Amino acid sequence: MALDKYHEKRNFRISPEPSGTSHATVPPKQALYVVQKHRASHLHYDFRLERNGVLLSWAIPKGPSLDPTVKRLAMQVEDHPLEYAGFEGVIPEGQYGGGTVMVWDNGEWSPEGDDVEDDLRKGDLKFTLHGKKLRGSWVLVRTHGYGGKTDKSWLLIKHRDRYASKNDIESGEPRSVLSGRLLVDIARDGGGDAEKASTGDPKSGSRSSAPSANPGLKRKKQGKA
Ligand code: MN
Repeated sequence: MALDKYHEKRNFRISPEPSGTSHATVPPKQALYVVQKHRASHLHYDFRLERNGVLLSWAIPKGPSLDPTVKRLAMQVEDHPLEYAGFEGVIPEGQYGGGTVMVWDNGEWSPEGDDVEDDLRKGDLKFTLHGKKLRGSWVLVRTHGYGGKTDKSWLLIKHRDRYASKNDIESGEPRSVLSGRLLVDIARDGGGDAEKASTGDPKSGSRSSAPSANPGLKRKKQGKA
């Protein structure tokens, strides 16, 4: 089963993450795309593309870059269930990936080639993102030579188009696209370690968004998108 590794690593009686046992929550449509900012033992960005009923997943330590001259290391990790795309909250400390998870960007993606399986096998997947923060043409290229994990190491690179930019999107747009919250807010709301989470927020904009200061901001319940 595609999700065996995902299930092996987690205890769903303790972690609020989706168990991925339901199959009918997402009607067929354009394929989902999501980036989750994850302050675990290290801050990283989990980049996920829906494919064949699961989310193909890569952990990107520095996050995506809009600059076509910048290549960002993306380590492929286990496939995640589709429902994971809507998960924002706190994974208890001591559990796999313990820490705070934010839905940093989401939308749809479409492949630019006509055979995704072949592109993945060859290690050269070109695609277009239709997200709220990330748009336009990108490529994931498998690399060789990062330690012994050669088959897991990829690079995420922006192609040159009108969405390319020198802007630092991670520090410029640090909030959740689901709830408008920073990591520190998500941790506090979820009973997590707010101090640890805040180290993943930008220094300048890391003041928590008090609800009264943002009366128009609707906070969605965590869980299914
Ligand atoms: Mn992660």
